[in-house]
Amino acid sequence: MDKLSRILIVDDERHNIKVLSELLREDHKIMAAKSGQVALNAAHGPNPPDLILLDVMMPGLSGYEVCRQLKAHPRTMHIPVIFITALDATDDEAKGFELGAVDYIFKPFKPVIVKARVRTHIHLKRKTDLLDRMASIDGLTEISNRRSFDITLEKELRRIARSGAFLSLILSDIDFFKKYNDYHGHAQGDICLRRVAKALADCANRSGDFSARYGGEEFAVILPGTDLDGAITIAEKIRTTVAELNISHAASTVADHVTLSLGVATVSGSQDISPVDLIMAADDFLYQAKKSGRNAVFPTKKTTRNQKNNV
Ligand code: GH3
Ligand code: MG
Ligand code: MG
Repeated sequence: MDKLSRILIVDDERHNIKVLSELLREDHKIMAAKSGQVALNAAHGPNPPDLILLDVMMPGLSGYEVCRQLKAHPRTMHIPVIFITALDATDDEAKGFELGAVDYIFKPFKPVIVKARVRTHIHLKRKTDLLDRMASIDGLTEISNRRSFDITLEKELRRIARSGAFLSLILSDIDFFKKYNDYHGHAQGDICLRRVAKALADCANRSGDFSARYGGEEFAVILPGTDLDGAITIAEKIRTTVAELNISHAASTVADHVTLSLGVATVSGSQDISPVDLIMAADDFLYQAKKSGRNAVFPTKKTTRNQKNNV
């Protein structure tokens, strides 16, 4: 069954909150806020609402100001807002739409209308969420796709430029995967890709870590706040975890199971490095790992002793 959608009702009058919750609680999970500030906190909280019903006239932050702040922040800008107002002056209605609201409901409420409008906007929100998800997830492995990787790498490099922290990138590539497909079949190859993707995502699971399918049998991991030594440790963990999956690879000449080669590149926020430069650096090390005989991480800890970054 579908998860219940969450609706945040914002009104300084308890009575209005009560009437709306009674109307909607059968089909939705209801959250309530008696002021604009409490509403903003809830929208930024761990379980943000799918839709906000927002009173216009409130002491402190007005509904318009709350809406303006919601639409100005990337974390809350996609939450649809329906204004609730007793005013039916058309210029006020226009103001709400200009601020990014999706609809208006006028007091006193007509239950059928409130329910229908809420249902419509929840339906639209779910479709938009699904489209966003489909645009960022790789269909086969269900981890992030290349598009999402490009956006994230750029964003994280901008972030470390401000904080001065390290950022590491791991690029990995399955060894002899063409032979794997030729010998075990393409369908089995797809299953292998899914298992490798899951292992990779499980190894890079700190908050902020980001794994993606970079291309056919190539995967990438972005590790914000991780220096070279830490990133090599994680790359080694990925290499051994994938080896321990023990996926039979009868056509490989390095092992009897599926293996990965990995390249690691690290920058510090004080360097002016573009996403392309960082990817090229990691790819160079990946190439060295392949040349060294595969099933390896490059650079190695021995060669980078005391080094915090390598680009
Ligand atoms: P190396 O060890 O040098 O990396 O050799 P390789 O054979 O892994 O590299 P190559 O780039 O020659 O082959 C990659 C293979 O990955 C070829 C392609 O058919 C396969 N591949 C790419 N995407 C998919 C996919 O979605 N499913 C399956 N089953 N195979 C894929
Ligand atoms: Mg490849
Ligand atoms: Mg390969």
